Amino acid sequence: MEYILALTHVDDTGAALTRASLEVVTAAIDLANQLEASLTIGIVGVDATSAANFLASTGARLLVVSGEPFAQPRYATDAAACEALCRAACATIVIAPASARFARVAAGVAHRLDGYIDTHIAAVVAADTIEATRWFYRQRIEAVLTRDARPWFLLLDAGTHAAFSGHSASTQIEEVAVHLPTLRTTVTGLREPRHDQQTIRPDAKLLLVAGAGWTKKQPDGQTHATEAGDLILGFLHATGASLGSSKSLVDQGGDGNSVLPFLTHLNQIGQTGATPRHAKGLSTCCHGEEPHVVGWRFVADRRAISLDPNCGWTRGKADVVYVADAFQVMSKVNALLEANDA
Ligand SMILES: Cc1cc2nc3c(=O)[nH]c(=O)nc-3n(C[C@H](O)[C@H](O)[C@H](O)COP(=O)(O)OP(=O)(O)OC[C@H]3O[C@@H](n4cnc5c(N)ncnc54)[C@H](O)[C@@H]3O)c2cc1C
Repeated sequence: MEYILALTHVDDTGAALTRASLEVVTAAIDLANQLEASLTIGIVGVDATSAANFLASTGARLLVVSGEPFAQPRYATDAAACEALCRAACATIVIAPASARFARVAAGVAHRLDGYIDTHIAAVVAADTIEATRWFYRQRIEAVLTRDARPWFLLLDAGTHAAFSGHSASTQIEEVAVHLPTLRTTVTGLREPRHDQQTIRPDAKLLLVAGAGWTKKQPDGQTHATEAGDLILGFLHATGASLGSSKSLVDQGGDGNSVLPFLTHLNQIGQTGATPRHAKGLSTCCHGEEPHVVGWRFVADRRAISLDPNCGWTRGKADVVYVADAFQVMSKVNALLEANDA
């Protein structure tokens, strides 16, 4: 008999679960239904009551660890909270989000419970035994993992499941007491990069890809890198989209060409780059060659703006291709977004 625990935490507001936590809830409900096993959901947060009420319709046992020590992520307090929740749930399978907060403590908690952990899990299903799926080698090899050892911790990658959606209702919540060790770390606050400095946003619905065309000579014989940068950042600012790039564009920095200063190799999408999981993607000034487009594997709704009617996107790799000048299209799009905002 398996005892499944969805281990979750609240978001920055403190009142709701993070999206990744809600995805974990979906995965845990599915697994519990397949196994006809009991489901417990554990929540860590300064005050987890409203987050727990949102889960009323799951019918799961709801355990919470709350209080001021759990307001901020910190190894000692989070590890103690997760350990207490796992013990209270007698969990044999623990599914947790691969968030910065839990990725840091999950392996330590598994060790404290004499358990095992696997990370970057994309799916969990019950066949003859429980099978967890993950990708290796930049999404080229898909592995199916099974383990007899328990408890088995599975860190679920974000964007792999639908977020659980329920209706808030008052429900029974069990508060779990935590024995805290002596705390040596004081969290004094959070420092985040400015909104326009942080261009990689894994939770964004939309991916904007910039290709090398942005910094190439345009029909007037000149390059327009500054204008390109303004158009791209303007779009990101207005939409909250995440910024991806082709390899050619991020490589240009090393070639001494004009560059977009906010791009690094971390933005690169493709065979030797990232494979993000945004719902929609818009490619601009990029040719859509296979080594780039393999990075769009999980982006289902694709559009591209390219001057070249024979580019890769027009050959079945995008749903809609605008054969047009991206400088003109994006400046019009940004103007419309601005007008909409006003
Ligand atoms: C082993 C290997 C691994 C690789 N891995 C990756 C990878 O991970 N990611 C990756 O991206 N690439 C990768 N590549 C490189 C890839 O094959 C391409 O060379 C690269 O994606 C090309 O980038 P690009 O389309 O931005 O540039 P280009 O090929 O130079 O295309 C620029 C495009 O911009 C268009 N354009 C120019 N001006 C405008 C305008 N004003 N409006 C609209 N369109 C305009 C042009 O028509 C052209 O189609 C890899 C290659 C190899 C061999």
